[in-house]
Amino acid sequence: MSKPKLAIYWCASCGGCEEAVVDLAEDVLALLEAVDLAFWPCATDFKRADVEALPDQSLFATLVNGAIRTSEQEEMVHLLRRKSRLLVAYGACAHLGGIPGLANQFSREEILRYYYEEGLSTVNPDKVRPQPRCTHEGRPLTLPRLHHVVRALDQVVPVDYYIPGCPPTPRITQNALKTLLSDTPPPRGTVLAPDIALCDECPRKASKPLQLSFTGFQRPQHVAADPNLCLLAQGLVCLGPATRAGCGALCPQGNMPCSGCFGPTSRVRDQGAKMLSSLCANLAPKTEEEIESVLDTIPDPIGTFYRYSLPHSLLRRKVNLPVTTNGD
Ligand code: SF4
Ligand code: SF4
Repeated sequence: MSKPKLAIYWCASCGGCEEAVVDLAEDVLALLEAVDLAFWPCATDFKRADVEALPDQSLFATLVNGAIRTSEQEEMVHLLRRKSRLLVAYGACAHLGGIPGLANQFSREEILRYYYEEGLSTVNPDKVRPQPRCTHEGRPLTLPRLHHVVRALDQVVPVDYYIPGCPPTPRITQNALKTLLSDTPPPRGTVLAPDIALCDECPRKASKPLQLSFTGFQRPQHVAADPNLCLLAQGLVCLGPATRAGCGALCPQGNMPCSGCFGPTSRVRDQGAKMLSSLCANLAPKTEEEIESVLDTIPDPIGTFYRYSLPHSLLRRKVNLPVTTNGD
């Protein structure tokens, strides 16, 4: 009997999620025993035409990592959706928009102007910008178009499962693949990680006070945090209370606050708002002025509370995007 066919594809991604598959180390061999790799352009020489030639629904599953920013990425995920019985958002960028989603704080024009005209290392006196279509030595050339906003995978195509993390850990990846290959996979739409808050699996949880009273917040690079006490209780913005468990509390174990890459549990609609409301309920000062001065000690609120989830949040993007001539 032929083995199920698996595809892996990356969109707006740093490559860390591809690396996470390689990080399975010798367990990659067990994966290759269980499946045939039908498409993985990062590691092997596959082309888009190879996917187009496959019958629809012939891939058992496709793991997509990275967010959707360009026209090419959008076309590819529609194609892979058609060819796959299961489409899996692999990693925080595909799951929630991730780090590339922080670009939704800026319009496309602001991004292009900065990188092609104003950036400190930019030398571009003619203000040349990439064009979707041009000719070079008489030959037509095309480039993918940059969309206005970054989207998570399920904001573009229906997604069957989510494997969270930035990147997903080897254990989460292995367990998720076993689950998908089993005879009794969970209901579609499931995030394949425990549906409890990270604090519940954190070795520091016994030192987390029931009531906190913040007078200011610290940045991890400015303090020598006690390695045994709850980081939130030390004034570090640790997103453990608003974040799904499953990583084994790797960051708190390394004396760093959780930055939220596993996303929220199923009971939380907006991870950043949940964390912000929990912090604000525990501020010591009571006057507006004092509260503002405490919150001012968090220098980058969007990057702190929505580092991985801005496209999927209630905020989603900057509102005043300019009208463009090509409409995309
Ligand atoms: S989830 Fe993290 S590791 Fe994966 S592509 Fe996005 S930024 Fe990179
Ligand atoms: S260190 Fe962070 S994850 Fe651990 S118990 Fe405190 S708030 Fe929760």
